[in-house]
Amino acid sequence: MAYSTILFDADGTLFDYDRAEEFALASSFRKYGIQFSQERNSLYREINDGKWKQFEAGVISKDELQTSRFAGLFAALGIANIDAARFNKDYLGYLACGSELIDGAVEVCRSLSATMRLAIITNGIATVQLSRFSKSEIKDYISYMFVSEEIGYAKPDARYFDFVFDRMGPLGKPGVLVVGDSLTSDIQGGVNYGLDTCYYNPRKLENLSGIKPTFEIGSLAEIFDWI
Ligand SMILES: [Mg+2]
Repeated sequence: MAYSTILFDADGTLFDYDRAEEFALASSFRKYGIQFSQERNSLYREINDGKWKQFEAGVISKDELQTSRFAGLFAALGIANIDAARFNKDYLGYLACGSELIDGAVEVCRSLSATMRLAIITNGIATVQLSRFSKSEIKDYISYMFVSEEIGYAKPDARYFDFVFDRMGPLGKPGVLVVGDSLTSDIQGGVNYGLDTCYYNPRKLENLSGIKPTFEIGSLAEIFDWI
């Protein structure tokens, strides 16, 4: 398939969110005098993932997501007297500094951008995502950046994709490929909208979701085997 446009998810697809997140959590823990450990990092991830799923399902707002993930973490750790909203603000400040990329991201974006238009479609928080993007090595290869918070809808909502198509248009759906590491937001969003999808699955997780990507890759460079 000849694609004219590629819509890349940001976190876990182009950006190494795991590293950025761990740095941000360890730094904020240090600031508040809380002991950091890998167990606590994993616990936070689990809680945060659950909150993002609730957000993507429209159950909670972005503000609720941001405070309740830390309120939940502190409750689970038996830590009292920390204002979760204030802690979240500090955390986001550290997170905005993390612009490490996934292996191959620079080369893949550089190469694809020679013949295609590239955009980032992300459900992240606008100030954080824009800061990380502007510090990153891929910024010159990406023509558009769409952050759900600014649009008012999040992947997989079709209205999110309506906004993207409206801005980048005129776009024919057959020429557009969605690349992402989340079956429930990226791949489901693309499938629902009638787009081809590429599931970036570096840990080779078994797909039990029933959501079927057009193709799957284990490293970003493998995209060249398909397009
Ligand atoms: Mg992702």
